[in-house]
Amino acid sequence: MPNREAAESFGDSDHLRFVADGMLGKLTRWLRMLGQDVKYSNTLDDPQLLMIAKKEKRILLTRDFELYQRANAKGIDAFYLEGLTGEKKLAELAERYNIKLEIDMASSRCPKCNSTVKPASRKQAEQKVERRTFDHYKEFWKCPNCGQIYWQGAHWTKIRKTLNVAKQILVETEKEK
Ligand SMILES: [Zn+2]
Repeated sequence: MPNREAAESFGDSDHLRFVADGMLGKLTRWLRMLGQDVKYSNTLDDPQLLMIAKKEKRILLTRDFELYQRANAKGIDAFYLEGLTGEKKLAELAERYNIKLEIDMASSRCPKCNSTVKPASRKQAEQKVERRTFDHYKEFWKCPNCGQIYWQGAHWTKIRKTLNVAKQILVETEKEK
């Protein structure tokens, strides 16, 4: 399974591969929702992060300038993200790596574990979500790895708002050039 996934995503410019440092849990969840392959664990230390980036050809995302410099010195593609709001981080990454700030459920990944989510049957969803949610929403998605069920519930208003702010920042950055 991991081999097949690696083969599929290799050379795919729409969906890059990243590894994020332990400070970037929130950004990791956003990028995964946007369909990006992000390896993350807050137990990985600097040498491990550098090794994963190099071996798996992942772009290192970090808030640690020293780590960023170490990556550069080793010829590892890295992106430094300190001192930015969540929206600004998304806008900068979208600009640098041409990431679309839209969530497409066909390629969205589980924010918790990075697996690509799949449409869930009504039956699968019924077993996992509250009755009220089940009755109210038509479409559900399931993570084949951790079993988490997703739906575009009330929290989606907030998700769209954040993405819109990020898009606005991106538009303004592009205007300044
Ligand atoms: Zn999952």
